[in-house]
Amino acid sequence: MRQVTVLGSCGGFPEPGRACSGFAVDWDGYRLVLDLGYATLPRLLRHWPDGVLDAVVVTHEHPDHCVDLHGLFRMRFYGQPGGPRLPLFCPPGVLDRLSGLEPDVDLQAVFDLHPLPGGYRVGPFDLTGLSLPHFVPNAGVRIAADGIVLAYSGDTGPTPALAELGRDADLFIVEATDRDGETSRPTRNLLTSTEAGRWARRAGARRLMLTHFWPGNDREVAVSAAQVEFGSAVMAAEEGLTLTLGTPDSGCACRRCG
Ligand SMILES: [Zn+2]
Repeated sequence: MRQVTVLGSCGGFPEPGRACSGFAVDWDGYRLVLDLGYATLPRLLRHWPDGVLDAVVVTHEHPDHCVDLHGLFRMRFYGQPGGPRLPLFCPPGVLDRLSGLEPDVDLQAVFDLHPLPGGYRVGPFDLTGLSLPHFVPNAGVRIAADGIVLAYSGDTGPTPALAELGRDADLFIVEATDRDGETSRPTRNLLTSTEAGRWARRAGARRLMLTHFWPGNDREVAVSAAQVEFGSAVMAAEEGLTLTLGTPDSGCACRRCG
C-alpha cells in the first residue's frame, strides 16, 4: 500500500470539522507523517489506531504545522515510556517551540532530531528538505522511493526552489493560502492558488493537490485558478482524502474527479 492521506487542509487555524496541515504517508508498511498542525493528531490516530509510526517530518515551527507534535510527544512520553526514539526531521525551531510547553522535560527523550534543510535516508525514502521563503525557517520536503516522488511545500512564498522541490513529482502538495493582499506584500511568504498552479507546472509535477486553505476561502475558486496555470485537473486537500502514490492512470481519487 503506497498512499497519502490528508489529515488536515486548513492554513492558520482550523475550520469547523477540519484540521490544519498534516499528511499521513503509508509506503509498504512504513509510516511517515508530514506536519502535525492543530487537530491532526486525533485524525492520525484514526488512520493508525495503534499510534505506531516510523518518522515525523515538520516543515516549520508555526503551530498550524507543528502544535500536535506536542500531543504526540505526550502520548509517547507518558503512554509508551521507554520506547524507541522517533526520528523527527524539522528545522530546529520546532523543538524550541515545543520546549516552551514542556520546560522540565527533555524532548529528545522521545524525538531523535535530524535538522532540516538537509538530505537523509528515511526508511524506504530519500528525503530532501529544501529551504523555502517564509516568516520563519521553512523546509519544503521531497520524498522519493522506487522512482516515485511526493513533494510538499509547507508554507512558502514564490521561489524557483519550488520547481526544484516538485521536479517530476508524482504528487506535489502545495499551499494555496490566498490570503487577502498577499501579492502586494513587499516580501512574499505565502502563495496564491494561481502561483501554486504555476510553480507545479514549472516543476513538471504530474499531479497537484492544493492545501493550506485560509479559513473561509472558496476552495472551488482556488482549484479553478490553479488549474488555469497548471494546465490539467487540480485536486483540493480534504480531510480523510486518500490518494494512491505512483498509479499508472490519472490517479485522481478525489470526489471532484470521481
Ligand atoms: Zn501555515
